[in-house]
Amino acid sequence: MCRAEQQRAYEAALLNSVHDAIISTDRDQVIVSWNHAAEALYGWTALEAIGQQLDVLLDTRCGNGAPRTCLERLDAEGHWEGEVVQRRRDGSLVHVLSSLSVMNLPDATRVGVVAVNRDLTHSKQLEREIHHSRRMEAVGRLASGIAHDFNNILMGIIGCCHLAEGQLDAREPARDYVSEIGYAAERGVSLVRQLLAFGRQRAKPPVSLRLDPLLEGLRTMLERLLGEDVRLVTSLRARGTVLADAGQLEQIVMNLAVNAREAMPGGGTLEIATQDVELSADDAATHLDLTRGRYVMVRVADTGVGMASDVVERAFEPFFTTKGIDGTGLGLSTVYALVRQLDGHVEVDSRLGVGTTFTILLPHHGEVGADPLPRFVPGPHEVDAPATLPAAPGEPPVATPEPARREMVLVVEDDSLVRMTVRFYLEDAGYEVIDASEPSEALALPDAQLEQVAVVLTDMVMPGMSGREMMRQLERRRPSLRAIYMSAYPGDMLVHEGRLEAGLPTLQKPFTEESLAQALRQTLDC
Ligand code: ADP
Ligand code: MG
Repeated sequence: MCRAEQQRAYEAALLNSVHDAIISTDRDQVIVSWNHAAEALYGWTALEAIGQQLDVLLDTRCGNGAPRTCLERLDAEGHWEGEVVQRRRDGSLVHVLSSLSVMNLPDATRVGVVAVNRDLTHSKQLEREIHHSRRMEAVGRLASGIAHDFNNILMGIIGCCHLAEGQLDAREPARDYVSEIGYAAERGVSLVRQLLAFGRQRAKPPVSLRLDPLLEGLRTMLERLLGEDVRLVTSLRARGTVLADAGQLEQIVMNLAVNAREAMPGGGTLEIATQDVELSADDAATHLDLTRGRYVMVRVADTGVGMASDVVERAFEPFFTTKGIDGTGLGLSTVYALVRQLDGHVEVDSRLGVGTTFTILLPHHGEVGADPLPRFVPGPHEVDAPATLPAAPGEPPVATPEPARREMVLVVEDDSLVRMTVRFYLEDAGYEVIDASEPSEALALPDAQLEQVAVVLTDMVMPGMSGREMMRQLERRRPSLRAIYMSAYPGDMLVHEGRLEAGLPTLQKPFTEESLAQALRQTLDC
């Protein structure tokens, strides 16, 4: 081989070993060279592409303007770089970062243009997925915020309708209008419940499914999400099935993966493992939400920055984030809510600078085979997910509550509309009522009066002090005093946020006269 041939072979090897598509054209945009990466990216061989008009072949569209604008800039400045969308041989679109340079001979005659094009499809997809997941988290947060405020308003409207209906004669035409207002408000209630359900990602009807194929199916998406610096390792060995909706399980894994990725800015390893495990009665006894038996275990472990113990403590709280305005604090609370919806258990074990492992146990539904199952070994820093409260009092079908004796109820509620409604319901049911518009008012009641109170019905969030804190102070004066906690949020969420201990009676607003009566009887008669 002569020197010139050697040089050409070297240059061809150079062009073909680059991962970006490198294409050159003559002055009329006719393709002159087309490297291996261009063949792989667009689907045409060099033989097919050479001789064609570049922009016609690739149907190039500039991100923010016609190809002309790019070419004009190229003419004027000799270089242009920007994002373009092009079409592959199979018709699919590809997002490309294109760098165009004018090629000149040593005597400055222009011979053509060289394009170096990099495929951006994966990073664009990743951006969209991250954006989507963030948006979902943000929407959930907005939804619960709106639902919370709306609940109080609707409760007042429904209560006033009830009140007005009671006072209007049956023949009074205005009664129909009042009923209509009531119906409209009831529709509002169901809307608000949907909003709350969305914020909490309530489940679709679950089906029996195996985790391993589902996780296998997520692999491509996970790899994209994690990016090149994070290695995904899987060890899928669960044969058991769980009762769940595929979307719920996917969201659990995706939320954990998003966090893991954010915890590994310099790269690392994400390991996802599944296994069937058997929980002995002893193992289960240490967890409020677990019973002995078979479970399918999912472990998601990263080698990221880890969490300090105070972060571990609060990690599952809704809106808790260490990421400033970039964080929503809803990733893990959603995981938590979803796992609880599946009657499962989630815990976290983390060490600063070493990494974080999430372990999820989901009740085993179908057969796993006859092999003896390994025992479940909890992580050293486990966080006990709080148990949910018993179903909201009054929700299961219960016979009409017994007529109330003249017991006294202390109502503490800062929203006057809600306070008035609750008072009306209680008096209608035959209770005696004293009310307070804020905790300090209730705390100022003389001992003699406090002695007569059969039960306290209190709002959770009030100015100055929470309903729970107020009760702690009242309990010091009268330890046997019982309370029902009213909130727009379901009881399990209050427990989860650490605002209420598990097992205390709650009543989700807006509630009806019937459910209030039932809740009172349950608390007073037990
Ligand atoms: P967000 O990601 O919006 O902050 P999350 O509920 O997903 O909200 O997580 C709450 C907090 O828990 C994070 O801000 C972070 O401090 C911590 N965290 C969650 N996952 C991990 C992890 N894999 N590694 C380290 N810290 C984590
Ligand atoms: Mg997150």
